[in-house]
Amino acid sequence: MDARQFVNPEQAGYVGFANLPNQVHRKSVKKGFEFTLMVVGESGLGKSTLVNSLFLTDLYPERHIPLASEKITQTVKIDASTVEIEERGVKLRLTVVDTPGFGDSLNSTDCFKPVIRYIDEQFERYLQDESGLNRRHIIDNRVHCCFYFINPSGHGLKPLDVAFMKAVHHKVNIVPVLAKADTLTKLEVQNLKRRIMDQIEDYGIKIYPLPDCDSDEDEDYKEQCRQLKNAVPFAVVGANSIIEVKGRKVRGRMYPWGVVEVENPEHCDFIKLRTMLITHMQDLQEVTQETHYENYRAENLANGGSPAGKASRGQSDGLSQRERELLQKEDELRKMQEKLARMQAEMDSKRPEVQPNGNIKTHNV
Ligand code: GDP
Repeated sequence: MDARQFVNPEQAGYVGFANLPNQVHRKSVKKGFEFTLMVVGESGLGKSTLVNSLFLTDLYPERHIPLASEKITQTVKIDASTVEIEERGVKLRLTVVDTPGFGDSLNSTDCFKPVIRYIDEQFERYLQDESGLNRRHIIDNRVHCCFYFINPSGHGLKPLDVAFMKAVHHKVNIVPVLAKADTLTKLEVQNLKRRIMDQIEDYGIKIYPLPDCDSDEDEDYKEQCRQLKNAVPFAVVGANSIIEVKGRKVRGRMYPWGVVEVENPEHCDFIKLRTMLITHMQDLQEVTQETHYENYRAENLANGGSPAGKASRGQSDGLSQRERELLQKEDELRKMQEKLARMQAEMDSKRPEVQPNGNIKTHNV
């Protein structure tokens, strides 16, 4: 934890995007803001809980949680939900793209193809709209930011995490998030964060670079930027319940030993993550436009066609041979573990049982 406490620039009960007009031209204020956030990571890591906590809204009122048996063969679905939030007269049209099923199936090699296809399709749509007649009313559905959820119980990034991030880092701004940070001690969070950042560097993964602030900015803002940069990957906790702690109503998780407060910077990086998202919303849009979309457009021009179409025909998954091999090995390992578990279960069912009278009973086979 940083020596100086992180100061939440917003009041409780506000997301904070009413400050966006300071970042952009007045024309966009009238129109409202369009922002698309994608959340990716294994199921159960708290993605929907976090998104609901971030925007103080229930984005998934009718969610279906699949059973384990459904998960084995499950393919990744892309669920886009759009909400319009208005805060102090400023409108935000927020689309959250969830990717249920990611990493669930036994064959994880294919799980990120639908995600890549979705990102490319949004670029393609924008490209077509831009070259069409009705250019003034284009809806921007391009993915401006991707929160990638990392499992806190692992020892850092898994091959799937590495392969996914490498496959999309030229297409979208990745913000790594360490999920369910309340399951780790402070020291464990620190160590795991360091390990993840080392891996990100070693594997050459390009995450969203938080912009440097200008030297003429005021000291508080510089300090905020420094703390946000140091917090990556943001260790978050999500909760949808409001709990009363010493007369204060807080969003938190109650345990027998105490309450984890989502919006307390001493407990987790939730507020830092939200501040990062809100204060850098315009930069995230600009990087999407100037870097990722331009890459797509250039590739499209060079190929004389649509990369989205190609990706959907399965010609490009953005992976190197070595990454593909790694994923294949991980799949094989998972299959072996499954087989072992089945054998173990079979053996257990045949194991002699001790009868209450001390006799041993065996099952006939
Ligand atoms: P998703 O499948 O990634 O969208 O995960 P959910 O948001 O549905 O959460 C899965 C489970 O984890 C639920 O029982 C949540 O209550 C719980 N959960 C969500 N966020 C956290 C967290 O930050 N810490 C802990 N310990 N549990 C969480």
